[in-house]
Amino acid sequence: QAPKLKDQSLFKQQGLINGQWADAQSGETFTVTDPVNNAEIGTCPEMTRKEVAEAIDAARKAFADFRNTTPRERSTILKKWHQLCMENADDLAKILTWENGKPLAEAQGEVKYGSAFFEWFAEEAVRLYGDVIPSSTKGNRIITLKQPVGVVGIITPWNFPIAMITRKVGAAIAAGCTVVCKPGAETPYSALALAELGIRAGLPAGVFNIVTGEKNTKDIGLELTTNPSVRKISFTGSTAVGKILMQQSASTMKKCSFELGGNAPFIVFDDADIDLAVAGAIACKFRASGQTCVCANRIYVQKGIYDKFAKAFVEKVNGFKLGSGFDPDTTHGPLIHDRAVAKVKELVDDATSKGAKVLTGGEKSELGKNFWPPTVLGGMTNDMRIAKDEIFGAVAPLFEFESEDDVIALANDTDVGLAGYFYSNNVNRIWRVAEALEVGMVGVNCAIISDAVSPFGGVKESGFGREGSKYGLDEYTVIKSVTFGNT
Ligand code: ADP
Repeated sequence: QAPKLKDQSLFKQQGLINGQWADAQSGETFTVTDPVNNAEIGTCPEMTRKEVAEAIDAARKAFADFRNTTPRERSTILKKWHQLCMENADDLAKILTWENGKPLAEAQGEVKYGSAFFEWFAEEAVRLYGDVIPSSTKGNRIITLKQPVGVVGIITPWNFPIAMITRKVGAAIAAGCTVVCKPGAETPYSALALAELGIRAGLPAGVFNIVTGEKNTKDIGLELTTNPSVRKISFTGSTAVGKILMQQSASTMKKCSFELGGNAPFIVFDDADIDLAVAGAIACKFRASGQTCVCANRIYVQKGIYDKFAKAFVEKVNGFKLGSGFDPDTTHGPLIHDRAVAKVKELVDDATSKGAKVLTGGEKSELGKNFWPPTVLGGMTNDMRIAKDEIFGAVAPLFEFESEDDVIALANDTDVGLAGYFYSNNVNRIWRVAEALEVGMVGVNCAIISDAVSPFGGVKESGFGREGSKYGLDEYTVIKSVTFGNT
């Protein structure tokens, strides 16, 4: 069902190039569907390399002026953009729920969290400080300037259709960069609504461009990563695609940030507050029906409390209500498409065939082919695929462990390292484990770690670069050193 928007003009079905809403020159479009029932929401232009090159060219031309705006001018645009997002939060959340499927309350949370990056980077834009460095040569003085890197190519996924864009675009604009963004083909309308608000906030033409495509995704990526005018690629998505984009970006030596897949361990030690740990594991695992890169992927529970934890955890999961995100009773929505359901089912079947027990869920839902019931698996072992693969769905696998050393070794036995969580009330253990986990972000007695003020990013094959925080701006700047002689 189409949600009723207060401002229907936020629902755009065209790309944005050089300040103009644009179709594909071929007239071709792709269809965007509601994950609840696969009903058509609308269409978007199937753009080709030609349109992407035009968008890049518009961004290159706009950069000539935009790079010379004052930080205060850019800050003012970002503040206004933040304010407009908050004023239109209900509409943004409805569009988000419609195309992504997450419950409306969660979508509202994402709008708030996502918009916070505009506010944060509005505040950071005016603090692009350099250094004054004493020189090794008598009479010389050195200063550094932080300058915008140039045109930025941004590729984002469907799981956070607003926040994944704002945390890149907010930083890019604050630094004085211009942007060409390709949102996930499943969720282009949140991105386009953001762009409409960006125009209203005063973004000059060509500063923020959006290209859309589904079947042409590879070509769009190829243009963004090989066009010499693009000086930076920022990507959030799978590790497999990240590797392709990094390889392609090497051709013109672009600066890169990659926020890729995770496989977060969530460890509950004997000395933890169990109620807190259960609540944390529920929030961390099942947010967005398990479709976030920082969701708990492997829940390790120490032997002495395993049964108690499992019982309390399953009770909570049994209280979930699966359904449309617009239904106020719904706690969890569908997965993004039936391929996601098929993958989750495959992982569950693999685990049960190797001895895991289904504690709840585990069978396809009758609500429709994109729905997967929240599932808990017990008796998990390290030879099961879930120990290595990112689930990206509502399956909580419980592993029992004996000692701290064992669980650290298990937690780190993966190629990726994005988030990790653990619960303990022993201060010495907290330091040891926080330092030993091979991840970019750790939650200690805390399961929701995303915050615009905190650096977000991974290690190992989860990628590199940090988003948000005082470091987020560095990804979009280059340091120039200027040496003054004869002073
Ligand atoms: P997900 O499973 O979250 O969609 P992907 O890594 O496949 O993860 O996709 C993330 C984003 O990258 C999406 O916008 C998608 O369209 C885009 N994408 C996928 N493959 C490519 C590619 N070869 N080149 C450029 N972008 C791509």
